[in-house]
Amino acid sequence: MNNRTEQLKITDFNKLHYNHGYIPVYRGKDTTYDKFWEFIDLPLLCINYFTLRERTSLFKKCLKNTLADALGYYGETILVGVGQDIKLDKISNQEYLEDIRRLSPDYVTSLDTHTYKTDPNLIKRHQTYKAVDNALYLLSKEIECEVIPLVKGTNRKQISWGIEEMNKEFNIKSYMFPCQELSQAGDMKEIYVFLRKMNDLNAISFLYGFNNPKRINYYIFPDYICGSGYFMKINDGKVYYIDKYGRFQLNSFEELEKYEITCNLECCKGKIPEIENKKQLAAHNICVLNEMFQEEKRKRGAYPWGLKPQEVKVV
Ligand SMILES: [Zn+2]
Repeated sequence: MNNRTEQLKITDFNKLHYNHGYIPVYRGKDTTYDKFWEFIDLPLLCINYFTLRERTSLFKKCLKNTLADALGYYGETILVGVGQDIKLDKISNQEYLEDIRRLSPDYVTSLDTHTYKTDPNLIKRHQTYKAVDNALYLLSKEIECEVIPLVKGTNRKQISWGIEEMNKEFNIKSYMFPCQELSQAGDMKEIYVFLRKMNDLNAISFLYGFNNPKRINYYIFPDYICGSGYFMKINDGKVYYIDKYGRFQLNSFEELEKYEITCNLECCKGKIPEIENKKQLAAHNICVLNEMFQEEKRKRGAYPWGLKPQEVKVV
């Protein structure tokens, strides 16, 4: 590591003190879920850069006043540069950097690239290099927030290579793996590879777009899961809850009414909010998802985070 790299360790990584497992992603698409955080004590929030940008008036306000002031959210923020192919192609690292400086999040991820399992190998490799390049670009700049590199790759070799390349040059404490499609498809192989690598490096792991909380188990256990399932399920007419046997459930509002299901967590202290109270329901879902994550963590005991390496077989 050279002197320049040493100088770039700007702030203290340890300030990532939030020890809940679930971080909601705020997309800012419309006003429905704005300020849902006012209903709970939420110390950390992911904000999607690309979806926020689409709500032009709010985005302009954020650029002018910083994210915290424009959104009225004063916990810690992670600005996430994960977006759809077409949007990614239209933005440069320089432009992203300029916006980061104006938005002033506490943490920021590098810019995403798009890779699919069905792409030809040459494209997959190219996109993996590009993702590393994007991360190294941000890591080499002097910015007020911590950089969380995004990890890309469609196989074990690519994923490991990218992490090692970044780790060679910078003292990186946390990495984020965008895995929306993989987790939806139930394709956990690459997620294992990422988590194993995090375990080897003793790094903090984030799974982004992980909207399948039931898949959190012995083998898939990151430090944080980031997702927008907490409100997407409400839009589908469903809500998360813990049943009387302590099991984690997802069910429709009709079923909740029928069986008079209640919530004893901090969010509700009794009755689960009505379907019209979307912000309150979002807050409730976040509390339930956190509780579920914490419960899994307790069950793991000796392996509070990451994986127990010998137990994991990756083909
Ligand atoms: Zn509740």
